[in-house]
Amino acid sequence: MVEARYILSLRGLPDGEFDIVYTLDDSFLAVIEGFDIFGGDVKVTLEGTRSGDNFEIDFVLEGTVRTLCDRCNAPLDAEIEAVFPMSFALGAETKEVSDSDFMVSRNEPEMGLDEILWQLVVLAMPMRKVHEEGACSEEVESFFLHQQQNAKDPRWADLEQIQFDK
Ligand SMILES: [Zn+2]
Repeated sequence: MVEARYILSLRGLPDGEFDIVYTLDDSFLAVIEGFDIFGGDVKVTLEGTRSGDNFEIDFVLEGTVRTLCDRCNAPLDAEIEAVFPMSFALGAETKEVSDSDFMVSRNEPEMGLDEILWQLVVLAMPMRKVHEEGACSEEVESFFLHQQQNAKDPRWADLEQIQFDK
């Protein structure tokens, strides 16, 4: 028995094209540890093609993930949008051939997708996660504003004019 929240059942899929849609919610996404992911709402569409025992499936991720802002460390909903092509094939046993290539037991043609979906969400996270200009938490915003004012202080420009005698 495959135990997972999201299970891909290969037996019932038709030859040719198929679509399967999953919605990943707070309770699923908040389980990811170590990546500052606290929830969200992500739609995953499996756009697949079956050809006999072989399944080519694009995992298309779209939605928002609740994380932390890199600048002010306050909560931030980051938008994600990514496509990951994966391959599945019926065979003697269920095993991971590579990160994107899986063999699934012909006797029990079901595969738990939870781990794969968590990994793909982590991979889909933007490199830089920051609030829009002016939307950071106020405390941090005033700190940066202060720094900018210092940077524009004309006295700094004057100091740069000073030539040191050598
Ligand atoms: Zn921020």
